[in-house]
Amino acid sequence: MADQAAGTEKFVISPPPQASLPIEGQSDRFPVHRVYCVGRNYAAHAVEMGHDPDKEPPFFFQKNPDNLVSDSTEFPYPKASEDVHHEIELLVALKSGGEDIAIEDALDCVYGYGISLDMTRRDLQGEMKKLGRPWEIGKAFERSAPAGALLPVSEVGHLDNGEIWLKVNDEMRQSGDLNQMIWKTSEMISILSGLFTLQPGDIILTGTPAGVGPVQRGDRMHGHIEGVGDLHVTVT
Ligand code: MN
Repeated sequence: MADQAAGTEKFVISPPPQASLPIEGQSDRFPVHRVYCVGRNYAAHAVEMGHDPDKEPPFFFQKNPDNLVSDSTEFPYPKASEDVHHEIELLVALKSGGEDIAIEDALDCVYGYGISLDMTRRDLQGEMKKLGRPWEIGKAFERSAPAGALLPVSEVGHLDNGEIWLKVNDEMRQSGDLNQMIWKTSEMISILSGLFTLQPGDIILTGTPAGVGPVQRGDRMHGHIEGVGDLHVTVT
């Protein structure tokens, strides 16, 4: 068994499919390893959630790789919640990783950028916060991260400014600029690499601007990030 070549192992059940994201303009896909999310990365959103943006270091939670959904324009309203919120976020995809990556080297790890929604069962997240318990049931549920196709750095460069917004039923709900991120992409990669061994295939959701709020079945969400494009998702 031990000398079996990598990739030829046999499994006792069918192995789960590899989570992946499409890439704009090509048929090959980007394989997803882990999904790291950053909390309260825009000052105005930290304030609306009742926190002081000047006093907190960045903090992280995770979603599951297969929570990313790129092959559907539908977001099924999840079970066990009556207060599901939208959070529009810039998605960063890593082509390389490591530990203790210096800020000045961090952007070399980036494969590309995308647009995503960090959908949140806010009522469950709130209960867990109050009790000092982990956030998974509020954040890491099925289909909780609708996402668009990746744009490779080789085509769009690095994105550190530009409009980011979300409309619901054509009404502006969230509006900000990538230059309002408290922790920049390079800083997030560097800090994360001091906590985890970053790997090719890792994804970072970089936090959301102010204006988060609930959605209902039938709502049409339209997200936009300048330089990345648009994401259209209907709540079903
Ligand atoms: Mn978020």
